Parts: sequence; structure tokens; C-alpha cells
Amino acid sequence: MNINVRRWSNEIIEIAISGVPLPLLNALRRYALAKVPTYAVDEVMVVINTSHMFDEMLAHRIAMIPLRSEEALERIKGLDIDVCYKCGSDSEDKPPSDVCEKCYVHMFLEAVAEDSEYTVYSSDIKSEDEFVKPVYGNIPIVILSPGQRISLELRARVGRGIEHIKWSPATIAVTRYVADIRISEDLCNLCKKCIEVCPKNVLTVYQNRIQVKDKYECILCKQCMYACPTKAIDVSYRDNEYILVIESSGALEPETILRESIGILLNELEIISKSIDSWKR
Ligand code: SF4
Ligand code: SF4
Repeated sequence: MNINVRRWSNEIIEIAISGVPLPLLNALRRYALAKVPTYAVDEVMVVINTSHMFDEMLAHRIAMIPLRSEEALERIKGLDIDVCYKCGSDSEDKPPSDVCEKCYVHMFLEAVAEDSEYTVYSSDIKSEDEFVKPVYGNIPIVILSPGQRISLELRARVGRGIEHIKWSPATIAVTRYVADIRISEDLCNLCKKCIEVCPKNVLTVYQNRIQVKDKYECILCKQCMYACPTKAIDVSYRDNEYILVIESSGALEPETILRESIGILLNELEIISKSIDSWKR
């Protein structure tokens, strides 16, 4: 197995991997989207809303604001999220309060437009938990006209993307093929048409030959092949090499999303393995 980290920042991680089957990478990608838990607003109690926006729309907008969950991740590890899933303020079958304490976070949103228009941003949401709060403060929620006000109580809880996309820590989780670009020196006349049409600037001329600058940048669009008058260039994909890209909503660090996906998958495989052992007895 070979791993090459191509990009790694607070927002995105991109790794080129060889020697790992594509279905396994696809499983990790899907787990990143659907299984890694984060916080999101799940209940909104509207105390006052004299804005032009319906309560439901306001609640939906607030629910989609990513909440920072990285620092709170340790305490929610091991929580039975299926219990949290069933729990609501009107639920009769509530889990024990120590579970709720870890799971729920209270927040408030109060805003008023006095004499002039006021744009309510995610930074106006005040959380009772110093670790769980909106990732970005500049997400607009509603514009209040003079005299309008909103007063909301919010309950954020732990959930997973499989329940609703608002809990997904990843905005993008994809696998890509890696290009295998072959250029025949015998057929190439250096007309450079392939370079002109390439949307990712993958090709260049070096030492009087067409060279590939970065195979990982190629998106396999084959425009170079179609433009080549002599059929000197051929683009296909490598069998055993892939790129995995995970972009974070900001709720968790990209590497945390990847690590947690691997952990959850391993845990589920372990459960299957133990079940198989128990069948033998
Ligand atoms: S397949 Fe597309 S991206 Fe790749 S080298 Fe050819 S033109 Fe460029
Ligand atoms: S378009 Fe074809 S012939 Fe022209 S430089 Fe590219 S590979 Fe060579």
C-alpha cells in the first residue's frame, strides 16, 4: 500500500492511495458522509418571530448551519446515537439524563432591528457550550426590517448524516481514478493542441516532448485525445491507484472525519466477526 497526501488543510484532505481496493475507499467515503456523528440544531422553540420568514423556514436555515463538534467529539464517543435519534423534547421514551447531558446543547438566538434593517448572522447564535457553536459567524439567516424581532431557543443534538444531511461533517467525499496518460513519440508532431484544450493544465512541452506535469490533476475528460490529429495520446485509468477527497463542513477536521470513518467501519466489521464466531458455538 502506498499513500501520498496531496492536500491537507483545515477544510480538505486529498490522498492518493495505491494497493487498496476501490470498494473499501468507497465505504470510507460513504461513512464520512453518513456515519460520523456531529452536532446540529434539531429543535427550535419560537418565542417571538415578527420577521417576514415563516417559523419553519427559519428553523430549517438554522439547522443547516454547521456546528463545531471537534472538541466535543470525545464526550460523544460511545453514545448510542440510535437512542439520541428517538429522543426529542416531546418524546415519552427519554434516555437517562446523563446521556442527554452529553448529547444536547442549548442555544439562543435573539435579534431585533431598531431603526434600521438588521441582518441576523450565525454569530448571533449564543451557545451554552463553549465547544459547540457555529463554525462560521458570517452565515446570514434572515434580514429584519425596522421594528421586527426574533427570539428563539435552540436545541442541538448529536446525529449522523444517515438521518439528515445537516449532521454530515463532510460536504464532499469522493473517490477518483488516477489517469494513465501515454504519449507516442513516434506519432506526436508537437502541434500542442492537446496542451491548448486541457482544462487542468496537465500537459507541457519539456525537452521537445509532451510530458505529463501531474497525473493526479487529470480529470480523464479525454479532450486531449479528441484534439490530437495523429492519435499520439491515449488516456485511460490506472487499475490500482485512486484519489480520496474529503472536504469538511468545518464541524470536524478532515483528518478526524477520515479517522472516525475508519474507526466506525472497523467497529462494525468487528461486530460482524464476533457474530460469526457466535454462530459456530
Ligand atoms: S484527459 Fe483531460 S484533463 Fe487529462 S490530460 Fe487530457 S485534456 Fe487534460
Ligand atoms: S495533440 Fe497529439 S500530436 Fe499534437 S502535441 Fe499533443 S500528442 Fe502531439
